[in-house]
Amino acid sequence: MVKCCSAIGCASRCLPNSKLKGLTFHVFPTDENVKRKWVLAMKRLDVNAAGIWEPKKGDVLCSRHFKKTDFDRSAPNIKLKPGVIPSIFESPSHLQAWPQTGPSQQDCREEHPNRTAEMSI
Ligand SMILES: [Zn+2]
Repeated sequence: MVKCCSAIGCASRCLPNSKLKGLTFHVFPTDENVKRKWVLAMKRLDVNAAGIWEPKKGDVLCSRHFKKTDFDRSAPNIKLKPGVIPSIFESPSHLQAWPQTGPSQQDCREEHPNRTAEMSI
C-alpha cells in the first residue's frame, strides 16, 4: 500500500526509495490534543465535513513539514520527538490572507505621543 502525505500541496508518497531521499512518514498522534494541533497547523479545510478536516486512521505527514530539531535520530528508525507540531507548509494562494500580528503593534508602541505633545505647547 502506497501512503501519501496528507498535507495540501505536498505530493510526497511513501515509495521504497523515499527513505534514501531522507523522506520519512509519520502517522498522526494518538493524543487528541496534539492531533488537533497538527490539523490546525496544516490549515486544511474539508468542504465535506463541518469545517475542519480530520485525519483518518493510517493518514501520514511526511518529514518535509517538520523542523530538523523535531526528529529523534538516536533510534535506528527516525522518530518524531513526543508532542512536536508540524510547522512547515506551503500556503496555497487562497490561504495567504491570514491576519498578521506582531511587528506592526510594536511599531505603534515606539511612537510615543508624549514628545510631540510637549513640543506643540
Ligand atoms: Zn508532505
